[in-house]
Amino acid sequence: MFATLSDRLTTTFKNLRTKGRLSEADIDATVREIRRALLDADVAVSVVREFTGTVRERALSSEVSGALNPAQQVVKIVNEELVAILGGESRGLNLAKNPPSVIMLAGLQGAGKTTLAGKLALHLREQGHTPLLVAADLQRPNAVTQLKVVGERAGVPVYAPSPGNQGAEGESGVSAGDPVAVARAGVETARSRQHDIVIIDTAGRLGVDAELMQQAADIRDATSPDEILFVIDAMIGQDAVATAQAFAEGVNFTGVVLTKLDGDARGGAALSVARVTGRPILFASTGEKLTDFEAFHPDRMASRILD
Ligand code: GDP
Repeated sequence: MFATLSDRLTTTFKNLRTKGRLSEADIDATVREIRRALLDADVAVSVVREFTGTVRERALSSEVSGALNPAQQVVKIVNEELVAILGGESRGLNLAKNPPSVIMLAGLQGAGKTTLAGKLALHLREQGHTPLLVAADLQRPNAVTQLKVVGERAGVPVYAPSPGNQGAEGESGVSAGDPVAVARAGVETARSRQHDIVIIDTAGRLGVDAELMQQAADIRDATSPDEILFVIDAMIGQDAVATAQAFAEGVNFTGVVLTKLDGDARGGAALSVARVTGRPILFASTGEKLTDFEAFHPDRMASRILD
């Protein structure tokens, strides 16, 4: 991910290095190159406009520092502005003072939500927490089974209604057809069994779907999550921004998880999500294995892009 963007920016800066002083024309030419590289990488137009405007302004007014030559100065500004659009400071999960903390996952089908549920569960278990996974994705026939498989691999129990038991009382005593009731009962179960964190997997959808968005909002209202994580596939391109905005409006998520950062797509749309929604990126998913998971650090990602 970001290989092309990274190459393009590196080339742009290499061309600057031969210059002892930077004229306004040099800066404008550089900013144009940066703009093209970002747009070609699928970064949202509004984010590119703001980004290049700030870089230009700062480059023009930047005092020449003794330690940095003009090219290094521009790289430093681009780096700082990249960190800013990626959300600035990294932050960890907000957890409740009185457990159980509730973490709800939302996103499009195929974004990597169920996989992420397992990764997060494993990560938290390794940190000494006692998570419970809750299968509130009752839309996809296979989703409950898939979460059980992932839970088993993570060594984390899964609360689920009996599969294929629509409308009846499931193993948990909750109707298998009602995701809101399942989510609520999952939180209650966590409380009574002393799990300190509940991770609720919700139904994905192929596109932004009003009915399923309402269902996610109902699950949220029934469980009062401490974190609502919007899970987004970094490969989905320009649709990322509209999708993220729809979920920001629909469920008012508190953080973003980028998945499939191991892919070779252009990835720039994912770079826009934090800026456009004003919500931080908390984690990155980088493969299919449960251990392919890391905390997201805007500064490290910016360095990786500018390396
Ligand atoms: P959900 O529909 O949102 O629950 O998505 P799933 O968790 O079922 O993931 C959809 C597909 O993406 C599965 O084949 C996963 O193995 C795969 N997947 C999930 N996360 C990643 C990732 O970070 N990298 C890669 N390469 N594949 C992933």
